[in-house]
Amino acid sequence: MKIDNTPKLDFNNVLIRPKRTTLNSRSEVNLEREFKFPHSTYKWKGVPIVAANMDTTGTISVYNVLSNVKTLTCMNKFISLEDFKTVKLNPDFFMVSTGISDANFENLKSVMREVDCNWICIDIANGYISSFVDFCLKVREEFPNKIIVAGNVATREMVEELIIRGKVDVVKIGIGPGSACTTRLKTGVGMPQLSAIIECADAAHGIGGFIMGDGGITCPGDMAKAFGGGADFVMMGGQFAGHDENPGELREIDGKKYKLFYGMSSDHAMKKHYGEMAKYRGSEGRVLKVPYKGKLIDTILDYLAGLRSACTYINAKCIKHMPKCTTFVIVNQQLNKYFVK
Ligand code: 5GP
Repeated sequence: MKIDNTPKLDFNNVLIRPKRTTLNSRSEVNLEREFKFPHSTYKWKGVPIVAANMDTTGTISVYNVLSNVKTLTCMNKFISLEDFKTVKLNPDFFMVSTGISDANFENLKSVMREVDCNWICIDIANGYISSFVDFCLKVREEFPNKIIVAGNVATREMVEELIIRGKVDVVKIGIGPGSACTTRLKTGVGMPQLSAIIECADAAHGIGGFIMGDGGITCPGDMAKAFGGGADFVMMGGQFAGHDENPGELREIDGKKYKLFYGMSSDHAMKKHYGEMAKYRGSEGRVLKVPYKGKLIDTILDYLAGLRSACTYINAKCIKHMPKCTTFVIVNQQLNKYFVK
């Protein structure tokens, strides 16, 4: 047994220190970023925010809103080839996601043959299993030019392994921070998300790769902290849930409207997709009642406005400059609940 006693931080353990700035208006901030990837030959330009590949957020109706502001939607893996064929999507602004079974690989090949998409997201809860890296390499060999995102992990050695041996372009970071996730409660495993982002960004950037901070964002300020900590992309689930555009009926309790949002390994999701939960595994997700928020466009615009404002406070002209302009101050965790958000 070992103890790592260096402090590890979550978003709510820090604030970003304001700095003297030459940016006089938020309109001077450019949120679009252009990427050249270590393995894919595509260049991508857009706002590096991604809706999670969950049943309620990785959908075509969410894509229809987010693509208008040049942000991405990672489609949930249960969207069929037939569903994809009914719509014309911009190949730059959605991802096809997949698990790592042989059946998943066959399905991925049949979708990518017929659907024009520049992104593939290989997604499993525990990115530390050795067959995961082998699968990433198999996908890279099949699709040499696609932008490949893969995760989730939360420490530097697996980021390096996935980029170097798995030939992944973007590693997805987050073990346990998700709003509908119970991994930390069920297993005791996890890493505070801001520290995971800082450590993994350092590892990825050292070898020309990128990271996507996935999970734990509860407000625009958390997103600014993720980018300030070195995330190249951020993925959100819960914050993109609860809108008109999210699937699921609007319900009402005591005059308050809400929609259901659930973890992809919750009993609810398992029953929906597989009929029942396999006996050897337990649920590591929960079902949440997300307050009804109206139109998704208002939420994403609020996030973009918060991000622009954060940039003006620290003199960052664009998202890429945020880490070098960011100084975090550790805040008293007891007082946190009064001051943050
Ligand atoms: P959020 O933005 O809601 O905090 O986090 C979204 C992320 O939570 C997803 O992108 C995914 O990585 C993670 N997630 C989704 N469903 C589950 C689940 O059932 N269990 C766990 N451990 N994580 C989940």
